Formats: sequence, structure tokens, C-alpha cells
Amino acid sequence: MSSFQWIGNHPGIDLVNTVRASTPGQLVDLLPDWAAITRWAAAATLVEPSVGAAATPDDPRAEEAHAVVVGMRDALRAVLDGEAADEDLDAHLAGVPVRLTTATGPPWVGPQADADPVDLVTVPIALAVVDAAGLPRARVRRCANHDCVLRFHDTTRGGRRRWCDMATCGNRAKQAAHARRQQRRS
Ligand SMILES: [Zn+2]
Repeated sequence: MSSFQWIGNHPGIDLVNTVRASTPGQLVDLLPDWAAITRWAAAATLVEPSVGAAATPDDPRAEEAHAVVVGMRDALRAVLDGEAADEDLDAHLAGVPVRLTTATGPPWVGPQADADPVDLVTVPIALAVVDAAGLPRARVRRCANHDCVLRFHDTTRGGRRRWCDMATCGNRAKQAAHARRQQRRS
């Protein structure tokens, strides 16, 4: 149950989904330490695996950076859920050291020229968080399964996506509806 989820359709939403339900009502955090964050960032293709590997847990800033990333993640979730203001998220973004540049072409924002390995991981994550906060809120929704806490950016044309995954939550709902119909018949 500890595998990362990539159903969000957006890296910032996938980050929020690193807190998921293991069993109904019980949440598990898939980013308990800095090593997990570098693994996640590489798997999300936000950083090259070599960049993630260079930002080792032994880095003196690793613990602080872990707190920053988890803080951004949890603030983004609260903002998406309408439980926090964007200013609350901004407070977590304030310390992320970015550089504005026109020389390298888009993206115009990136890590500073002398960024250390930890910042090379946290900056792309922060940019994904900022971008996710700007998604149309009606298109960022929670899975319709009440026991599931996963969110997704609905990119379907009609905007009617209901499930994190048709094969898991969608299928379970279909089976439950089927069972109810059988019961009524008998
Ligand atoms: Zn679900």
C-alpha cells in the first residue's frame, strides 16, 4: 500500500495524493522523510534521478527541506479543499529560493545558479504546487468513493470524471450497485 499514485493528472495533485487512505479512515503518509521525497520527485519526473540521488538524507538541510515540502503539500490540500486561503500556502512558498531568468527560455523560473542539491529538488516541487493552486478549482476534485482521499485534475472533455481509478474505486462502486440491485430482486 505504500506505492506512489499517479492518477492526479498534475504533479502538484500527485503530491497531495502522497497522503492516502490505507484502510478506510486511516491515512498513511508516503513521504515520511527526505529520502522518500527525492524518490517521489524523481518518479514524478520533476527532477532527474541523478539530482534526486545527489540530495542525500545526510545533507544538513534535508530535515528542514522535508518539513518545507510537506508543509507546501498540506497547505495546497487545504487550499484546494477551501479550508485555507492562498495566503496560507504563500507562507510555505516564501522561503523557496528561485531565480527568474530569460536566458534559458521557459520555464522562466527555476533554481538559483548556485542552488545546492536540496534546492534542486524543492524548487521544481514548489513550482508544481504553485501551478496546481492555479488550476480551475471545479476541475480539481476528490474521488467519489468516500473512503478514498485521492484527488485528480479532471481533464476529460465533459468534466465528469468521478473516480481516482476506474479499476479500483470505480469498480468497487459498480459492484456495490450491482449487489444492491441483486438484493432488491431476491
Ligand atoms: Zn478513489
